[in-house]
Amino acid sequence: MYYLTIKRRFAAAHRLLGYGGECASLHGHTWTVEVQVAGEKLDSCGMLVDFKILKKMVDDIVSELDHNYINELAHFDFARGGINPTAENIASYIFKSVREQIENSGKEVCIQEVMVWESPDSCACYREDK
Ligand SMILES: [Zn+2]
Repeated sequence: MYYLTIKRRFAAAHRLLGYGGECASLHGHTWTVEVQVAGEKLDSCGMLVDFKILKKMVDDIVSELDHNYINELAHFDFARGGINPTAENIASYIFKSVREQIENSGKEVCIQEVMVWESPDSCACYREDK
């Protein structure tokens, strides 16, 4: 099995609703996202999937978050039935969005995990263990 990991960064603001601490106030982070995919078959070039293609898939999602107030995006907007924009929920959102893109691309890889770092020492990881 081969594993590839790419890393992207974005800057965005959020606030946590229903949380009794300072993260309930509007504040921002420079988030780091790591996405890992896996697969068994390499193409004729010896690649599982071109890093460029994988980065483009993740950038399509990350660009929605970048320089935005995450709470106002539909998926995280309480007024529209959204969920709290915690690092955990952002990780699962990116995971599911990238998985959908991979499925639509027909590439023979599957997403393994998404890690979302909201600071150099705080990270949430989402994976769907079978
Ligand atoms: Zn925060």
